[in-house]
Amino acid sequence: MDNSGGAGRKRGSIAVAVLVTAAIASGCATPAEESGGQGGSGVGVGKEGGEGQGRKIDGAAGALLSPAEKARRERAAAQQAQAARAAAARRWGLVQVPLTAPAPPKVKPRITARQGFEVDGQVEEGLPPVFTTVPVKDRVVFLTIDDGAEKDPELLRMMDELKIPYSSFLSDYLVKEDYGYFKKMQDKGVALHNHTLNHRYLPGLSYSQQKHEICGQQSNIEKHYGKRPPLFRPPYGNYNKDTLVAAKSCGVKAVPLWAAEAFPDRMEWREWDKDLHPGDIVLTHFRGPDDWKGSMPDMIRRVMKTITAKGYAVAKLEDYV
Ligand SMILES: [Zn+2]
Repeated sequence: MDNSGGAGRKRGSIAVAVLVTAAIASGCATPAEESGGQGGSGVGVGKEGGEGQGRKIDGAAGALLSPAEKARRERAAAQQAQAARAAAARRWGLVQVPLTAPAPPKVKPRITARQGFEVDGQVEEGLPPVFTTVPVKDRVVFLTIDDGAEKDPELLRMMDELKIPYSSFLSDYLVKEDYGYFKKMQDKGVALHNHTLNHRYLPGLSYSQQKHEICGQQSNIEKHYGKRPPLFRPPYGNYNKDTLVAAKSCGVKAVPLWAAEAFPDRMEWREWDKDLHPGDIVLTHFRGPDDWKGSMPDMIRRVMKTITAKGYAVAKLEDYV
């Protein structure tokens, strides 16, 4: 199962159909494949875009303005932000301008384990729910990027300029090559979550080994980035009850898996309709041309083409979970 991604890439599209279900379990490449990308010391610390600046001006003067004038300025700021995004989309070669997500909900939706993804004692023991889609009505999806092998400064610039939110699930054995890269990511507003210390197949480990892998990474992320992550994703999407008990013991609130997986040349789907649905979580990886058919920007262009064409906006996972 773990090698199915590699096989799929070599055999091309014929294999894709066969791998639709296999891909669900694979999620990530094998550790051997993942260790390929060497870290670059990134630059890409850009200034805030026009949107942020516009809002700042409004905020300072807002108290003195009439409601009508305030509304007019807000519309102007929104138009300016959209124009900036359209320009960024042209610069980065996107087929369509990404859609803007609606305002986040005032109250986060109640998330329960997906049917068939529960473990014994799931509800009774208050274990963190495992799910693939956030229960929302809005046409939004969530972008999540795993592991940490490829450390491409272009990705940071691209996502910042396009104002596309995403969340990272980090494995320390890759991230430790360059903690600074992910600090820059965090400084741009990206939440950094737990994907274990060493990307092991967790159901093959004892409880205490799992706890080390999960809780060790909680502490590690706190040490390097100042925050214990509320979200955890098990490598390959594989887990058992021990995984969830261990995760809960060190502060994990929820375990988001994914409904679709993005590559630079294709999408792979969990659901039989091979489509996006409101609240779907999209998985992809920090990988480069050595690992798959393109760069990180190539992958983003490909996934955004699908998301935008289907009428979805990318929203920030932490606004909902
Ligand atoms: Zn992974």
